[in-house]
Amino acid sequence: MIPRPLLISLSICVASGVLLIAADSSPKEPVSDRIVVLTFDDSVASHATFVAPLLQKYGFGATFFITEGFEFLVDKKHYMTWDQIKALDAAGFEIGNHTRNHAGVAKQTLEQLTADVAYIEQQCEKHGIPRPTSFCYPGYQTSEAAVTLLRERGYRFARAGGADAFDPASDEPLTLPQAFDGKPESTLEQFKAAVEKAREGKIAVMTFHGVPDIKHPWVNTDPEKFERYLEHLKQEGVRVVALRDLTKILASRERP
Ligand SMILES: [Zn+2]
Repeated sequence: MIPRPLLISLSICVASGVLLIAADSSPKEPVSDRIVVLTFDDSVASHATFVAPLLQKYGFGATFFITEGFEFLVDKKHYMTWDQIKALDAAGFEIGNHTRNHAGVAKQTLEQLTADVAYIEQQCEKHGIPRPTSFCYPGYQTSEAAVTLLRERGYRFARAGGADAFDPASDEPLTLPQAFDGKPESTLEQFKAAVEKAREGKIAVMTFHGVPDIKHPWVNTDPEKFERYLEHLKQEGVRVVALRDLTKILASRERP
């Protein structure tokens, strides 16, 4: 799901004295090379009920990182159902892997980590969702063993923590950093500064949890503030995509 900005060209027909306005959406037209990725962690119910419909209104792509950790299995008021997750996939959003139990990967044995990663893949298969190729480290904790495992299982991108843009020229895509981490105290100015980092080939990957996030108030994003963030992305004219879309975008940059 890569929305193209629709460029409007004006044609003025002087001879007939008629002003003609023609919409031209030719694929030859330039597409912004400023890329922002939106990611949403922890399978929060507001991802399905508020975030996804709003993103659709803006024509933005996004990745939703799914875990069955926390109270996912018992609290279906605050966590998505698999039917809702399947609907996100059907709507064109990416479903990424955030592990079964949301355990820090560095504290797990390889067997535990493999089982947690494989479980979300199996759940996706069971619900007709494509096998994930994007991963998010629970608690932003990485390990070399996890990177190796993800590479072996065909993952292309894995988001960690941090506070910087992802530079595909120098950063390892299986431990890529976030440029912004949505918190209750985050400001529009901080978000704008993170968007500014999406220049000169660098990609700004934004992290959110619930909008709102009732069960985890320390990572809550206020819905009205979130709309101001999206409005800023629209005004900047950046491309807003899912993590998996970077595969094609980066490949197209390599072409002469
Ligand atoms: Zn998480």
